[in-house]
Amino acid sequence: MDTFIDLRSDTVTRPTPAMRRAMAEAEVGDDVYGEDPTVNRLEARAAEIFRREAALFVPTGSMGNLLATWCWTERGQEVICDARAHTCVHEMGSMSAVAGVMPHTIPTPDGILRWDLIAPAIQPGGGYINKTGLIELECTHNFGGGTIYPPETIADICTRAHALGLRVHLDGARIFNAAVALGKTVAEITAPVDSIMFCLSKGLGAPVGSMLLGAREFIAQARRKRKILGGGMRQVGVLAAAGLVALEESPKGLARDHDLAQRLAKGLAAIPGVLLDPATVRTNIVMFDLAPGKTAQEVCDALRAHGVLASAFGPQTARMVTHYDVYPVSIDRALAAMRAVL
Ligand SMILES: *Cc1c(COP(=O)(O)O)cnc(C)c1O
Repeated sequence: MDTFIDLRSDTVTRPTPAMRRAMAEAEVGDDVYGEDPTVNRLEARAAEIFRREAALFVPTGSMGNLLATWCWTERGQEVICDARAHTCVHEMGSMSAVAGVMPHTIPTPDGILRWDLIAPAIQPGGGYINKTGLIELECTHNFGGGTIYPPETIADICTRAHALGLRVHLDGARIFNAAVALGKTVAEITAPVDSIMFCLSKGLGAPVGSMLLGAREFIAQARRKRKILGGGMRQVGVLAAAGLVALEESPKGLARDHDLAQRLAKGLAAIPGVLLDPATVRTNIVMFDLAPGKTAQEVCDALRAHGVLASAFGPQTARMVTHYDVYPVSIDRALAAMRAVL
């Protein structure tokens, strides 16, 4: 894929030279015994940055979200989430297959829930009706187009949920993108939620890994369940070392990714056949619709022939994502390819 401009996702980044050096030199031990010093440092540092008691290194964001759902709920309960939530549509039904819970989905235009949308979905439980076990939010919202929760909306949802004894989990795969776009710290914007998952492997550029954060007892329970899933890893400090570099160094580069996404969005919006309001693009994800004529898949196939990779989501919707292997010249070439295709 080296000769392509790869805008399919920010997961396609390869480890930087600094990450590879850190991986080669990582001090390691057996993490199932709690003896990998690099994993321990990564978990401590993530907990410090998010001002939480504890953190857990997990191989994927999907596993982190599943562990949180599994810890917070009982089998048969419902999880309230947006209808296009990653946990609901892109994690192989794991909340049902493994944790034994059902999604209770709420359709939204941009993936952003509010209390007035959530309240009617809450089920009280009792002798003959399902019980709500958890509320799950996603920020930035991937299929909503990299959209961001206003911090006061997260706070409002959590205050009201907690008053009903309900927990809130945040799928913060790209929470650093949200923080950069809002000009706030990740600790500030995530303070009200009960647990957070974020990915080291997306815009932060690590080859593998995500973090789950929360209170000490919650993380201890998640650690046991991670082992049930076969996710107890041994000398995994070689991966945590890259994660530490990602955590310390990569957030600085995200503003640049957002600028490139703006440049891309404005360019796309000017092409006849693309339906997109650049003002809706807040972070590094550009979701756009295509006017009837060609399907999104046909357009993506044609772009590939021009050396540009994008993803089709649904018949007329496509996605392009910026990341640190994308440069201004890549955007210009992608736009020229799109003009040629349409
Ligand atoms: C990528 C992503 C995840 C986790 O994905 P993995 O590929 O399992 O690491 C979770 N939530 C959102 C919103 C994502 O974009």
